[in-house]
Amino acid sequence: MAARADDRDPIEADHRVATQRWKVGSAVVTSVVEDQIDGIPPQFFFSDATADAIVGHDWLVPDYAAADGTISLRVQAFVIEIDDVTVLVDPCVGNGKVRTLPFWHDQSWPFLERMASAGFSPGAVELVVHTHLHADHVGWDTHKDGETWVPTFTGARHLYTEADLEYCRASAGDGEDVFGDSIAPIFDAGLADVVDGDADLGHGLVLEPSPGHTPGHLSLWVESDGEKALITGDFLHHPVQFAEPDWAEIADHDAVLARQTRRRMMARAAETGALVLGTHFSSRPAGRVVVDGDRWRFHPA
Ligand SMILES: [Zn+2]
Ligand SMILES: [Zn+2]
Repeated sequence: MAARADDRDPIEADHRVATQRWKVGSAVVTSVVEDQIDGIPPQFFFSDATADAIVGHDWLVPDYAAADGTISLRVQAFVIEIDDVTVLVDPCVGNGKVRTLPFWHDQSWPFLERMASAGFSPGAVELVVHTHLHADHVGWDTHKDGETWVPTFTGARHLYTEADLEYCRASAGDGEDVFGDSIAPIFDAGLADVVDGDADLGHGLVLEPSPGHTPGHLSLWVESDGEKALITGDFLHHPVQFAEPDWAEIADHDAVLARQTRRRMMARAAETGALVLGTHFSSRPAGRVVVDGDRWRFHPA
């Protein structure tokens, strides 16, 4: 690793995890990064992908892919400040969790420190939205106090859909227990609300079902002063899927439905001119979607 060029906080000096903010009308969306991994062989996530196909979409380089056809992915949460309400979307993997994926297992990321340096204490979060309940979207909801998992955002309502609660419970037992360590403690503490996938949350925040990746997957529309943003969740994982919307991601529960959802949501994003915030997009995760024949293209903001 190169020597630091200045004496800033090393977290902020690393451009890959630095705080990024975008305005949506009078609302502000901030990315808080847990981790960004570069140099991933694309087949690791997309069985139909090849390095040649990646570099064939030259607009992906260098923000989302490298010239050798490897790809980058980020795990990040978005914090929305709208109408004096602070909303956290998809709080990442978390620390100290027993996970089957080695790069998520028993980690010690400075995520809460990064949140604090972006101006957010855990107590300030009033609402936690989960696009779905995979391990990388619920982790920071709890942290370990002795041997017990306890809520982190103790002043927040945490939203769930029944379909994804069921799916998450049914997926337990393969060496990790996301429900037990990251969701049950929220219910036990009385901080959970089960909502419909199309709920209007008020404050210009509206959920839209975007199933396929998981049965109850949803995306979040943000509207303020006539401007719109869309937080994707995992209906797509990487900007290459704008150009290759039929590429399924390995964890897509229903690949056929996920493809239909991707095309529908991409068309809506292009048509509305929304600022799209890609939950796993690296380096420049926000941008606009433009139509490119029967496919799309992503222009980072
Ligand atoms: Zn997922
Ligand atoms: Zn994910």
